[in-house]
Amino acid sequence: MSDRADAIVVGGGVQGLATAVQLLDNGVEDVRLLERDALCSGTSAAGAGFVGLWAMAPPYDERELAVERYGIDYYRRLQERALDIGFAQNGLLFVAADEPTWNTVEGTWRLRDHLDRVTAARPGADPEPVEVSAERVEELTGGTVLARGVHRGAFQAAAAQVFAPKVGTALATRFVEDGGKIDARRPVTRLTVEDGRVRGVETPSGRVESDTVIVVAGAWTNELLRPLGIYLPFVPLLTSRIITEPLDVPVDMPVTFLVGVSPTMPLLWLRSHEGALLWGGVYLDAPREALVDSTELPERFDEIPIDGVQQCVRIAEQVSAYVPALARYRSMKLKHGAPCYTPDHRALVGAVPGVDGLWVLAGDNEAGLTHGPGFAKALADHIVRGDSELADLAAWRVDRFDGRYRTDEEVADAVRAALTDQAEGKERPLGPPTAVR
Ligand SMILES: Cc1cc2nc3c(=O)[nH]c(=O)nc-3n(C[C@H](O)[C@H](O)[C@H](O)COP(=O)(O)OP(=O)(O)OC[C@H]3O[C@@H](n4cnc5c(N)ncnc54)[C@H](O)[C@@H]3O)c2cc1C
Repeated sequence: MSDRADAIVVGGGVQGLATAVQLLDNGVEDVRLLERDALCSGTSAAGAGFVGLWAMAPPYDERELAVERYGIDYYRRLQERALDIGFAQNGLLFVAADEPTWNTVEGTWRLRDHLDRVTAARPGADPEPVEVSAERVEELTGGTVLARGVHRGAFQAAAAQVFAPKVGTALATRFVEDGGKIDARRPVTRLTVEDGRVRGVETPSGRVESDTVIVVAGAWTNELLRPLGIYLPFVPLLTSRIITEPLDVPVDMPVTFLVGVSPTMPLLWLRSHEGALLWGGVYLDAPREALVDSTELPERFDEIPIDGVQQCVRIAEQVSAYVPALARYRSMKLKHGAPCYTPDHRALVGAVPGVDGLWVLAGDNEAGLTHGPGFAKALADHIVRGDSELADLAAWRVDRFDGRYRTDEEVADAVRAALTDQAEGKERPLGPPTAVR
């Protein structure tokens, strides 16, 4: 008996689920989502849930801004549909401990340019990011960040937050309610391609046929594409989320980024999660690059070394001088994920060249919760109608690097260089990589 679908989505993380929902919204009747494990058991399980207007930092521009605004609206509507996703529009606060860091924040995040661009793009739409004093930082965070350790900050009121696991559940509910079909714990073992056209997928319990297959398999995307001789230039970099026991952290505090807290940690982030502290840091040492050029990715991230988390804990001890909750917690729940970074920090969204009917949404650059709904809409619109009023996919074209990157290590070199430039407040020209061999 033949098992057929009008479209198959491979991967049941937030971005795969969002894509599946958008296909239904576009009138595709029979959409099948295949997930190897439980839904949202990959990187989506670990997401911190910040839904920001990241387009104020290079290389993002108006195109990502449109996708980000869409994401915030989308999550608001999802919550209004009585699907609790922990949506709150508490804003986003960048905090610099000293003046040199503040100058870097201003330079890197182009606060003033952003303000001009945002106002020009949609006058009056987003409350502007405003510069705030140390005292105002303490007030906005309800005393979670004390003025005494802070130079100043920048506050963006339009930003929102969600709880990633709840987003997964809500999207799955919507998808099934609207007629979609989910096969969980059914891995795709092979993409079937004949005469340059996708024909479906193989699974241990048989083939599913379709002329449209969208691979949204996060860090594992290249594993599925490799047998077709295709390598997408992204590198999975491990990072972790920590949730403490309830500590009375004000639920209305903004998502807070402590910038430049240490030379080994450019960013420590925190927010309230139902009164507990949800936090983490961008650690640069092991195990961040443990999956680079890995021939066999682990199917789950629950056994990765916790050296990076220990580094977060050490830095947090220093920061606790002005964030007292970081000295008060006694318990930690950990989740690890592997966001996938591209050489130019932009996502990979669109048709896979050389294989008709095969599409991809990958290279999330640790922003897939924010960008997922918008990219999913733009991608589904293109698949069904050939264009999208939300966004043209040109900026995220899958083949834009023209084969310049052939290994994870080459991509990782480019990502490291971009991070160093960002830490120094330099805007990085998006030219060819330094690491082409
Ligand atoms: C600590 C941390 C903090 C973060 N914070 C934020 C944030 O604040 N804001 C933000 O926007 N983003 C954030 N992110 C990034 C965000 O979580 C990711 O961008 C997003 O979850 C990626 O979703 P995805 O669906 O692309 O990938 P995944 O969630 O990894 O989903 C891919 C799915 O594909 C499945 N799969 C793999 N291979 C197969 C196969 N062969 N067959 C079937 N299924 C398969 C996997 O099991 C997995 O479920 C954070 C990530 C981490 C780790």
